[in-house]
Amino acid sequence: MSNLELSNNLGAFVRSESGRTTENSTLREFWAGLSAAVMAELADDWDKTRRTYAAGRQEHYLSAEFLEGRALLNNLTNLGQVEDAAKALEHYGLNLSDVLEEEPDAALGNGGLGRLAACFLDSCATLNLPVTGYGILYRYGLFRQEFDNGFQVEHPDAWMEEGYPFVIRREEEQRRVSFADLNVRAIPYDMPITGYGTKNVGTLRLWRSEPIEEFDYDAFNSQRFTDAIVERERVMDLCRVLYPNDTTFEGKVLRVRQQYFFTSASLQEMLDNYIQQHGSDLSDFAKYNCIQLNDTHPVLAIPELMRLLLDEHKMTWEDAWEIATKTFAYTNHTVLAEALETWQISIFEKLFPRILEIIYEIDRRFRAELTEKGYHPGKIDYMAPVQNGMVHMAWIACYTSFSINGVAAMHTEILKAETLHDWYEIWPERFNNKTNGVTPRRWLNQCNTELSALLTELSGSDAWVSDLDKLKELEHFADDEGVLRRLIDIKDGNKRDFAQWVERRDGIKIDPDSIYDVQIKRLHEYKRQLMNALYIIDLYFRIKDNPEGNWVPRTFIFGAKSAPGYVRAKAIIKLINEVGRVIANDPVVSKFVTVVFVENYNVSPAEHIIPAADVSEQISTAGKEASGTSNMKFMMNGALTLGTLDGANVEIVDAVGNENAYIFGAKEEELPALRAQTHPREFYQTVPGLKRAVDALVDGTLDDNASGMFHDLLVSLLDGSSWEGADVYYVLGDFAAYREARDRMAEDWAKDRLAWARKCWINIVNSGRFSSDRTISDYAREVWKLEETRI
Ligand SMILES: *Cc1c(COP(=O)(O)O)cnc(C)c1O
Repeated sequence: MSNLELSNNLGAFVRSESGRTTENSTLREFWAGLSAAVMAELADDWDKTRRTYAAGRQEHYLSAEFLEGRALLNNLTNLGQVEDAAKALEHYGLNLSDVLEEEPDAALGNGGLGRLAACFLDSCATLNLPVTGYGILYRYGLFRQEFDNGFQVEHPDAWMEEGYPFVIRREEEQRRVSFADLNVRAIPYDMPITGYGTKNVGTLRLWRSEPIEEFDYDAFNSQRFTDAIVERERVMDLCRVLYPNDTTFEGKVLRVRQQYFFTSASLQEMLDNYIQQHGSDLSDFAKYNCIQLNDTHPVLAIPELMRLLLDEHKMTWEDAWEIATKTFAYTNHTVLAEALETWQISIFEKLFPRILEIIYEIDRRFRAELTEKGYHPGKIDYMAPVQNGMVHMAWIACYTSFSINGVAAMHTEILKAETLHDWYEIWPERFNNKTNGVTPRRWLNQCNTELSALLTELSGSDAWVSDLDKLKELEHFADDEGVLRRLIDIKDGNKRDFAQWVERRDGIKIDPDSIYDVQIKRLHEYKRQLMNALYIIDLYFRIKDNPEGNWVPRTFIFGAKSAPGYVRAKAIIKLINEVGRVIANDPVVSKFVTVVFVENYNVSPAEHIIPAADVSEQISTAGKEASGTSNMKFMMNGALTLGTLDGANVEIVDAVGNENAYIFGAKEEELPALRAQTHPREFYQTVPGLKRAVDALVDGTLDDNASGMFHDLLVSLLDGSSWEGADVYYVLGDFAAYREARDRMAEDWAKDRLAWARKCWINIVNSGRFSSDRTISDYAREVWKLEETRI
């Protein structure tokens, strides 16, 4: 669509959305109209891509979460029509960025794992790889967070209630999914995934459950109104909510139902497509199809593929198993033990006895195979898919998959040495590492337009946007004062923009000349937002002790949601808000320090925060964060990492050198000895200022509104409980090292902006290996055996 065409057509699209004149249409209707125009523009290429991919070898990315965020700007950028759209809107007296802000985030994920899936699809489209994502069209995305008196309150996120133009319902491609107690229709809703510099358009297919009968009119007519409605609601329940729980499990039956629902529908489609393309002999299924399991949530695809091949397609067990073991690849995302999903067999009995039967057979054969290999019965019992009345999803995945990968070098090593050690001993060839990445389109080119323009100018083209390693060629500008000054100006501009954004959104005033020190990620004890808060409390006291001191002005920025039932994480949210309130009310400290807790953290707030950040807080207890991806987004945008040697931080330091990051704290291999050496109470007593900061939780300095929450935090640090030790995440142990590094960082920033900017530059130009294009090329070459396929 040319500029002229877009201008001419936009009005028609908007009017068809609003049913009014353009003068009387709302901003939201302009957003919907422009989005519809974009969908019209994509339709032909999307159709062509789907047909092309269907004929060859494909990879299917199964994930319970896709944290897509907004789509319009991404699609306009990929179509090369950002300026055209801006001009077309100008014609109506509107501003593109105001229209873009109308878009709700598609928050069909909790955090890192879901956002990774979204970045991966972006890279697959850009690299012209025949990959389709499969998930669930949740009616409510991750809950909307509000603060009430500093406490998190959850509200439903009805993200598509007013219509969502970027999904297309494909009624004609529906499938049936059967449970012992319920039969449903699975209706696909397809979202186009555009790529940068290509006409290929990939697909994210999200399944929605609907009743088999549109409506039970018999029940309705015979006055059993509620029966008809109750049945309908029971089916719709299946896709109603995304589980807002990152690790632990709850809502068990419904969760398992969701997992089976979307994996079954996806597999039926793959088999149907195979038969259509290659005939009814399914023996070559694995030659044309590969399935990546994003964590254990889609692992039911394994017994379901077996069921389909055995029961529907009459294969022998041996032939079906041969196919399954060549089709599935499994990505592990965490070493937290409570996250390795296990389900009571009673749930399976209730939902799908046949699937349970197949799992028992997998279990039986597994035990026989290992017995034959001479393994100890105790070990076999531990590794078996079924034991003690529980089904172990990760063990089914490990046994079946030809590839098992971790998501950062350190994480994969921990899997091999600990979490999945037994598996590694038997099948070492299955294990590989695929360090995560993020898409430089969304996380640099679109969110930081000024920095992107500078990078394009210096490198003479925008080729870096789809080949991020190219930035390495700009490394020599680290010694060019002119370029560094421009980098500083760009960062300062982004900081002013953010200050405006946050004042408008959350009503908080911040000083754009202060250092922006940011921790944005899910609220988890292992991520140690509590250690961050204790630092701020300590700083508060230090400033009060010495109000005339030469304190660096600081803005501490947080964004985080807690799982609704995670009491201690919610206490930490309240604590951060309370620290912010106390500081804001202190006439002395507030001159130097502001604490901002951005409400309802999500993808689009991240796009505003990250380009403005000076400091990237990546302070998890060593060994706990599998990879992290916000660390990569910050690096690309010229923020320096303040972090532990954990997850991908290790590889970031490796890429930029020790002198261009601030690394502190205990290493993973040191922790056991360190813990044995010193009780948390000893740190509390001996680290200067630490007792004062911890005591502030309970001595009246901070108010938890009589909830007792802050007292519980204190007890967790000093005493622990009957089920866990004191300070499990080594907050008190690492505090001194953290304070030293963070103080030094602020001093360095204030002392010499040019030297600081030089470090930022080194980070930006060395971020190439953290592009998800690199991750996906590695998957495609080493795991999926997939070829680029241009339409
Ligand atoms: C990148 C991202 C995450 C992951 O952050 P980590 O710090 O790596 O845990 C979570 N949520 C959103 C919205 C993100 O964009």
